[in-house]
Amino acid sequence: MSPAAAAMRAVVFHGPRDIRLEEKPVPLPGPGEVVVRIGTALTCGTDFKAYRRGHRVLLGDPPSPFGHEMAGTVTAAGPGAEAWKPGTRVVVGNSAPCDGCYYCDRGQNFLCDRLKLHNGAYAEYNLVPANIVRHNLHVLPDSVPFEAAALSEPLACALHAAEEARVQRGETAVVIGAGIMGRLLLGVLKARGAKVIMVGRGRAGLDAAEALGADAVFGSSDGDPVKGVQALTDGRGGDAVFEAVGLPVTWASALAMTRKGGRACLFGGCAAGTEVSIDAHRVHYEALTLFGVFHHTPAYFKAALGLLSSGLIASRGMVEGSIPLSDVPRYFAENADRSLPKTAVVP
Ligand SMILES: [Zn+2]
Ligand SMILES: [Zn+2]
Repeated sequence: MSPAAAAMRAVVFHGPRDIRLEEKPVPLPGPGEVVVRIGTALTCGTDFKAYRRGHRVLLGDPPSPFGHEMAGTVTAAGPGAEAWKPGTRVVVGNSAPCDGCYYCDRGQNFLCDRLKLHNGAYAEYNLVPANIVRHNLHVLPDSVPFEAAALSEPLACALHAAEEARVQRGETAVVIGAGIMGRLLLGVLKARGAKVIMVGRGRAGLDAAEALGADAVFGSSDGDPVKGVQALTDGRGGDAVFEAVGLPVTWASALAMTRKGGRACLFGGCAAGTEVSIDAHRVHYEALTLFGVFHHTPAYFKAALGLLSSGLIASRGMVEGSIPLSDVPRYFAENADRSLPKTAVVP
């Protein structure tokens, strides 16, 4: 057990472009709770988005703990959670069913009326709430490094999107955005037997996508991406198109790249109040399906960990470099407006 007076360092979000490294007491576990010493946390595009503009869904009302992709070692467990022995290596899911709302009862905890996304990965210790301990805390095989395990969260989102889009073997999927989320989607779609066209802006992301098995890549210097995708699909467009950027212009492209009867998955989150105009004529007469996908469920999280543990989805190349906890505020300030690969934060 940690002594009550012990202190730890944690990064706290106070508002857009204001995160601070602070000293906090090491948490003590209450009933059903578990304390995890963070082994590795990962930076995430969503954290950068939250850093730039705030993020009520992710962070609630500030000041808030920050960072949501984490794996580490159990150090203490509260009454009722004693099965979690100190020393157990775990990955912590960042949400879980509340056990009692309409949506959680239907396996849609990402829509939970009481959804509280769990943060605090950028800290030395994390207090895991009881509902996550019950549903979304997972033991790591010894062979799986913390860094790979912490990818379970974004990979679970990608699994969720591919499943909702019902991508079948032999179909052509298009992914707009060749960042980490786009590349995780690529891995998931390839594993489902789809042909995958990646559309991106930066060369580095597209090169990485090609190395991961993309069937075709289309960059901003290659001309109009909508025409490019049509040319690669006999003029039809993709069977399923995933927008993994979160901008109105790419949402519009995603619809334009979707074939008659196809599915457009709006996976990149836009800021509140964002409006996109759509060709309603096409949606109706060409029977397009548009849908949003957000977040994941414990089942997807577990499946993601399984894929990473077995090597079926490569974690290689998804995380570049590492920084100590004390560097997190500087790192976010310096890179706030860039699109970067994931970095490991190692307390
Ligand atoms: Zn994330
Ligand atoms: Zn609920």
